Amino acid sequence: MGEILLRAENIDKHFGITHALDNVSFTFNKGEIHALIGENGSGKSTLTSCLTGIYQKDSGKFILEGKEITATNQVEANHQGVAIIVQEIGTLSGLTVAENIFLGNEDQFTKCGIKNTAAMNKKAQEYLDSYGFNYIDATKVIDDYNFEDRKLVEIVKSTYFNPKVLVVDETTTALGQKGREELFKVMHKVRDTGNCVIFISHDLEEVIEQSDNISVLRDGVKIGSITKEEATPDRLKALMVGREIGDSYYRTDYGEKVSDEVVLSAKNVTVKGQIENLNLDLHKGEILGIGGLSECGMHEVGKALFGASYFRQGSVTLGDGTPINSIPDAIKHSIAYASKDRDNESLVINDTIGDNICLPSLEDLKTHGFLRAKTMNEFANKFAKQMSTKMTGVDQFVSALSGGNKQKVVLARWVGKDSDLIILDSPTRGIDVKVKADIYAMMDDMRKRGKSIIMISEEIMELLGMADRILIMKDGKINGEFLRSPDLKDTDLIDNMI
Ligand code: ADP
Ligand code: MG
Repeated sequence: MGEILLRAENIDKHFGITHALDNVSFTFNKGEIHALIGENGSGKSTLTSCLTGIYQKDSGKFILEGKEITATNQVEANHQGVAIIVQEIGTLSGLTVAENIFLGNEDQFTKCGIKNTAAMNKKAQEYLDSYGFNYIDATKVIDDYNFEDRKLVEIVKSTYFNPKVLVVDETTTALGQKGREELFKVMHKVRDTGNCVIFISHDLEEVIEQSDNISVLRDGVKIGSITKEEATPDRLKALMVGREIGDSYYRTDYGEKVSDEVVLSAKNVTVKGQIENLNLDLHKGEILGIGGLSECGMHEVGKALFGASYFRQGSVTLGDGTPINSIPDAIKHSIAYASKDRDNESLVINDTIGDNICLPSLEDLKTHGFLRAKTMNEFANKFAKQMSTKMTGVDQFVSALSGGNKQKVVLARWVGKDSDLIILDSPTRGIDVKVKADIYAMMDDMRKRGKSIIMISEEIMELLGMADRILIMKDGKINGEFLRSPDLKDTDLIDNMI
């Protein structure tokens, strides 16, 4: 047993009628990576947000090295030795990289009320360089960088003052392989200097590989803690959901014939720097998987097919030749799209669940040209419930939902619209096993009803498990096509990705 660094004692937190944390107590030791796992909505982020001043707990205490700490914001938490890397974007648009790194801590560069920007930039660049991120320019605005690089900036930001406790809340889902490795290096550094990392991830293999101890939350209650040695993915899953579940949530059918009828066709689609001369046909009732490394262009394909790529060349047409050149074209012809970047591209985050679900169906919901609140409410309720969305009601804001439940709202919207063709980009990214199973069941049901699905995914098992056919992309081009088969192996796909 290591020496205790941080104790959480009887932490309790409500959001309205939701009891997000029910008197939970945890012990975190010096020199450990301690994973916190649990299904979406189990209270992981609430706990770490209370610790880091993002939320205020109702009652209970956090005791760091024998002293109680309470933070009312993240900067305060930083000064107390606690830092967090959050799940979604944690940097602020419009500010430079350096300004983001020193946000709330600019005082050190200010003399007589004047900020020495040059000194701040220099310091920020030194930090970036020390992590090997020298290609990131501290003086540039953060918006010049992609999601992954912005995450790396956040990692630098959260560790430059040597926190005693570093919370990593579902950061890996946002990162590609390289970003993950960088993050793990930082986590190991924190552990090896006698501090503690609280590591939240849905990837159970990754959890077992990286952590020394693993604690489980379920519906706001602490279920237990086990060591790395005792942990297996099945054991962890069982603790998370309270029953044994296997890997059987994928499709089990093989050899079913897919219709020859083409419902969507892409010809010579090019998006400069991202996609080059892409040709593909999607068939009725088919799940077409598109895989590859994160920068291979596949995420852009989803946008291009949905008419959301401004600089697209080439053509995208329905089976009957109708062109799809814009998002309104796509929606009018019953095409749906769920982006990988849910918060920024799929949901109106500062609006209710109900409004988000009704959004593309507003025309259909009108009676005599008018929208009635009651009709919208019933519609939203029906589909939110069909997806088993965990919510207080459809009037709840989507910003308050956990990742998995946000995704359910996105899907409920398109199931409600009864789209014939649905493009799903990373449908289960950052989503726990039970919700994953729900989403796969929904996809299988849609397929059987003759709907067609394009599933863009970085998860090889999901491609093998769900797709009738898989296209692998590399450097913006298709680099391999595979038909569904029980003999198809992950290595077959990987060979074509790299
Ligand atoms: P996890 O991180 O384990 O997925 P969360 O801690 O985000 O779960 O959520 C725990 C519960 O609290 C969920 O039911 C969620 O909907 C609710 N919740 C979280 N944040 C808020 C908020 N700001 N307002 C209302 N409810 C919230
Ligand atoms: Mg969370």
